[in-house]
Amino acid sequence: MSFSISSPISNLVRTTKKYLTELENINIKTIEDLLLYFPRDYEDRSNVSEISEIQCDKKNVLIGSFKSVRKEKSKTGMTLVKSKFIEEKSQESIDCVWFNESIREKTLPLHTKVMIVGKAKINFGNISLQSPSVQIYDGDLSEGLYPIYKEHSFLHQNWFFRKIHEELLPYIKNILIHNIIPKNIAEKKNILNRSHAIEILHYPKNNAELKHARNTFAFEELFILQIISLQKKYLAQKNNYNNDEKIILNPEMIKDFFKTIPFTPTNAQKISLFEIYKDFEKGMPMQRLLEGDVGSGKTFVATCSMLPILQRREQIAILAPTEILAIQLYNSIKNTLNNEKTNKFWGKWRNTENNRLEFNEINIELLTGFIKGKKRNLILDNLRFGEIDILIGTHAIIEDNVIFKNLKFVIIDEQHRFGVKQREKLIKKGNPHFLQMSATPIPRSLAIVAFGDQDISVLNELPPNRKSIETKVIKPTERRTVELFIDDKITKGEQVFIICPLVEESEHFDELKSATEEYLRLTEHIFPHRKIVLLHGKLKSKEKDEIMGKFKNKEFDILVSTSVIEVGIDIPNASIILIEGAERFGLSQLHQFRGRVGRGKNKSYCFLSPTKQNQNARLLAMEKTQNGFELAEIDMLLRGSGEVFGVKQSGIPDLKMANMMDGRLVTEVKEMAEEFLENNALESYPYLLKQVEKKKESLLTQ
Ligand code: ADP
Ligand code: MG
Repeated sequence: MSFSISSPISNLVRTTKKYLTELENINIKTIEDLLLYFPRDYEDRSNVSEISEIQCDKKNVLIGSFKSVRKEKSKTGMTLVKSKFIEEKSQESIDCVWFNESIREKTLPLHTKVMIVGKAKINFGNISLQSPSVQIYDGDLSEGLYPIYKEHSFLHQNWFFRKIHEELLPYIKNILIHNIIPKNIAEKKNILNRSHAIEILHYPKNNAELKHARNTFAFEELFILQIISLQKKYLAQKNNYNNDEKIILNPEMIKDFFKTIPFTPTNAQKISLFEIYKDFEKGMPMQRLLEGDVGSGKTFVATCSMLPILQRREQIAILAPTEILAIQLYNSIKNTLNNEKTNKFWGKWRNTENNRLEFNEINIELLTGFIKGKKRNLILDNLRFGEIDILIGTHAIIEDNVIFKNLKFVIIDEQHRFGVKQREKLIKKGNPHFLQMSATPIPRSLAIVAFGDQDISVLNELPPNRKSIETKVIKPTERRTVELFIDDKITKGEQVFIICPLVEESEHFDELKSATEEYLRLTEHIFPHRKIVLLHGKLKSKEKDEIMGKFKNKEFDILVSTSVIEVGIDIPNASIILIEGAERFGLSQLHQFRGRVGRGKNKSYCFLSPTKQNQNARLLAMEKTQNGFELAEIDMLLRGSGEVFGVKQSGIPDLKMANMMDGRLVTEVKEMAEEFLENNALESYPYLLKQVEKKKESLLTQ
């Protein structure tokens, strides 16, 4: 029968309908699917035992031959195939038994040198090897790493092994397997032929070989994802193609501006700014993500990034997810751009306009859903005539009747709140450059994969002299002490956040109910004399804003909240955060919560209260470090990349081979993919194109 890689399995593998159906259930339909069904693990079989060294309940490797074979029915109706195995060196024998594998009776190679691997069990005083795997032994194989396949119902290890190794791989040379990575890249990066890598992964000779083959597939996996991301990025850039003007920066201007600032920017801030200014010079719309922990100085970077645009008297829009955050940004940016010191600066550096009065001030306006009527109309008029330099606001900015005279730059705070549609609307307002800010630290390698359609700048250091937030994992016996401590701080006028445990779906218990119970417990029993308010996800965003506003105005002492609490909200008077059920959250999310405090003059505290006492080890990392990137990396190591806060929401694809901790590989792939797309049309690489399309489809349905 003829076959190709996309032929049904049955063209090459002999099996029954029952097996084929079960294979289909785990998405194995074609020869390719089965070829790419890689082992979940490997066993080092170089450790050959003699009979006397056999250990119970462990896998033992023996070399020898089968002398006889017979089939029996057990009392329970199982088919047993039994055989006597003679170990070569000692000539001692051991019984082997297989359950419900009657085919063994016919296929077992008798009087032939074989290697067997199986668990030893004692039954009624007799030792036997249970369902050992068997392979003809030609002297080399013991050096290899024996593949262990993931099993599904009756699709057992032995079945996978036999089918893949006896009926599939021997024909791999007859199957045309196209390489996906373009040849020159494969050569440069020492990428194996796909078909060779497949063979290796099913039975590697040693760890070095295994690593090489894995690396080949990891490269391929990441390369395809990068191509998809870059296509998205280029498309976004092409869509606002009008923005091809190069904005060349005068470094003297930045130096001058830094003189108006009461602190020295951190290195990370300078580097990020440099990256942003470079983007402006490219004559292509910027698509950049600025990542940094709370307090790392993102707002400052965003503010400085506007300078070249302001100099040219072009307009900027800044979007925040909520009104409170918009007001916060408005105040902060206004203070930095308009003060006694900046007055002279603007006088010196801003392009003059004949028909305009010089105030040496930047005109910054706020536009939210609450601003209505005459005031709103005035803002819209001024905007249209170019009188407003920076418009800061919420979604209200995106509305169709908000018209700019010359919008050049859009800054978005907290990126995952804004969808593609909203971006498109912004693009229509003037083909702007885009800078998105995120306060969720994601390790760079992971960010490259998750946000590959953007360039990434990272603020991985905090300004000096930041007070650390004292963090403590508390034991049940310490609870009362902590409550008294909290009460004492409230008496001193400080405020407190209490975060409710995450409710897992399996608990048949909704989040609102559990938060309400926590709220009642606190108001009735623990802090009856304090003013407490509850914030949860079922509230409208307007109601949430109202509660946060009141809390900020000190109308409440304690804010009890589910995990919906805003990232980025600034309540300097809040100095304590207590997180219940802390072990249910990822470290990076706990770190986000912790960032709610430590923003004012008071020493701040974070208490982590686990419900299960045996899971505290992970939480102790919170006591040790205040670095969000480090904590995200620990999360990535311990719980997988999908669990890092901020990544799940971004829809990071499942990765089979690539390890996100391998920052070097990720960076290399990104560079190669960029270089490739710059110099080639994807259409001339049909096999790569096909994989890219396939992956795109699977991402849509993920
Ligand atoms: P983020 O937006 O990342 O949370 P901000 O930009 O709001 O951080 O900065 C937090 C505070 O730190 C602000 O008061 C800001 O003026 C100040 N700040 C920013 N950069 C520095 C720096 N390099 N040195 C000292 N203080 C800084
Ligand atoms: Mg901020």
